[in-house]
Amino acid sequence: MDTDGFQVRIIDNEKGKGLFSTRLYQEGSIILEEKPIVCCQFSWNSDYGYLACDNCLTPLETAEENARRLTGKLDIILPHMECCETKKNLITECSACGTKYCNNECRNEAFQRYHSTLCLQSRNRNEAHPLLQLNETWKQMHYPPETASIMLLARIVALVKQASDKGDILSTFSQFCHRTVNDTHEIAHNLLGEKFIGQIDVLRQMLQRALDNDYTSNWFKPEGFRSLLALIGTNGQGIGTSAFSRWVKNVSALELPENERIHVDKLIDRIYDDMEEVVGSFLNNEGSGLYVLQSTVNHSCLPNAIVEFPYSNNTLVLKATRDIQPGEEICISYLEECELERSRHSRQKALSSLYLFVCCCDKCQSQAGDPDVTSDDEEYDDMSS
Ligand SMILES: [Zn+2]
Ligand SMILES: [Zn+2]
Ligand SMILES: [Zn+2]
Repeated sequence: MDTDGFQVRIIDNEKGKGLFSTRLYQEGSIILEEKPIVCCQFSWNSDYGYLACDNCLTPLETAEENARRLTGKLDIILPHMECCETKKNLITECSACGTKYCNNECRNEAFQRYHSTLCLQSRNRNEAHPLLQLNETWKQMHYPPETASIMLLARIVALVKQASDKGDILSTFSQFCHRTVNDTHEIAHNLLGEKFIGQIDVLRQMLQRALDNDYTSNWFKPEGFRSLLALIGTNGQGIGTSAFSRWVKNVSALELPENERIHVDKLIDRIYDDMEEVVGSFLNNEGSGLYVLQSTVNHSCLPNAIVEFPYSNNTLVLKATRDIQPGEEICISYLEECELERSRHSRQKALSSLYLFVCCCDKCQSQAGDPDVTSDDEEYDDMSS
């Protein structure tokens, strides 16, 4: 594939594909923007009252409501609410099941692509809907911090079921990185953890009971189901949105008199402190999605790009974090920033257990002679856990 400024290339090693720059990108410039093929909010995140559009994860609370909920302080009043981007008057819902959307376009798009299959009002009301049962079972296996959702799998199956061109949508999914049978065992294992790996068949049968159809029958077989789990495990990109953080960003850009600026900054600091006390690091509406181009971007421990969600919805932006020359591979970090600071051995342990590859980026190669010790940081974590 060749587009303006970048190119997906097949690399002749384990990595499969890679994204390469075909021109100069200056630090801070946007390399690409893209919407996911499919995305879904995490199950616990949604159950805990993080209100987001079911189709695009746009926050459905105002910044003020968001701040009040996450601090537990119902008397918080935010100044400059013109900086809040939530359009409450456009919020709408599925008339059959009440699923909420940021606007009519999202509701219609969801319905046309997957929601008519997944709508919870479409079955017998006397017993719990098979999808709700599946979700409950999943939640018992996958506690926060969440990294995946069985509902994303349900959405993938529904997308195929509702697609007018099955071949086209199936080939879209087949573009994502594919794994050998052994790898899919290990990835499914990592996704569910030791305790639950024996129950993978329970999930498979429940998904089948909820959504069986001719076009995706392969995914309901044991091998196929594991490959589907591996697909979201290795390609799923986390998405985070927040009404409050958008408000903060917009307010911070205002030209305010010095007194007011000091007052507003103090208020913001206080709210973040209170949030930290009440919800810890769970500040955002969170989910994950599959992005065709982003999924071709490889990991480096010295990345030259970063993934952001600057519009507070599921639109992903890939941004250069330093100048990138024509011909250079564009890389992001699959690890959190604090993990990147750890020793080569620690980084490689994390990458190989989560993504099943051995990193050979410049940083790892330059540290190849380092002894195989975990960093102090990690030893501390091990002791405290
Ligand atoms: Zn939406
Ligand atoms: Zn519905
Ligand atoms: Zn590396």
